[in-house]
Amino acid sequence: MAGEPQTDCLFCRIVTGEIPATIVRESDTTVAFRDINPQAPTHVLVIPKAHYPDAAALAAAEPQIAADVLREAGLVAADEGIVGSGYRIILNTGTGAGQTVFHAHAHVMGGRGMQWPPG
Ligand code: 5GP
Ligand code: ZN
Repeated sequence: MAGEPQTDCLFCRIVTGEIPATIVRESDTTVAFRDINPQAPTHVLVIPKAHYPDAAALAAAEPQIAADVLREAGLVAADEGIVGSGYRIILNTGTGAGQTVFHAHAHVMGGRGMQWPPG
């Protein structure tokens, strides 16, 4: 069934606690944890507890949970004190765009200057 946990998915295993992570926020539908290879002083991943391969698939199937991910991303930024300086919410989609984990996730990055366009 859509959204069911996948035993071979790294982020599903973080949701269950099978793989440890530094969790900074949790809601009924989402978990936020620090990226293991941070690219900025704040680099947190916000994921739905349900398994969807990318953000667009999540939004198509579960629009409320997609909204929850964005709300939690903003709350992470507030918790981290980076709202005033600005931050990015990044949704890499597809290998060509740098997606390496095929469980939807939003990167929340901030705490340093950002370039445009991104690489
Ligand atoms: P993507 O490249 O798919 O947009 O982002 C996947 C992110 O997951 C990468 O930034 C990578 O550093 C992070 N990541 C990969 N494995 C782990 C892990 O085991 N724990 C944590 N906390 N982050 C991970
Ligand atoms: Zn998953």
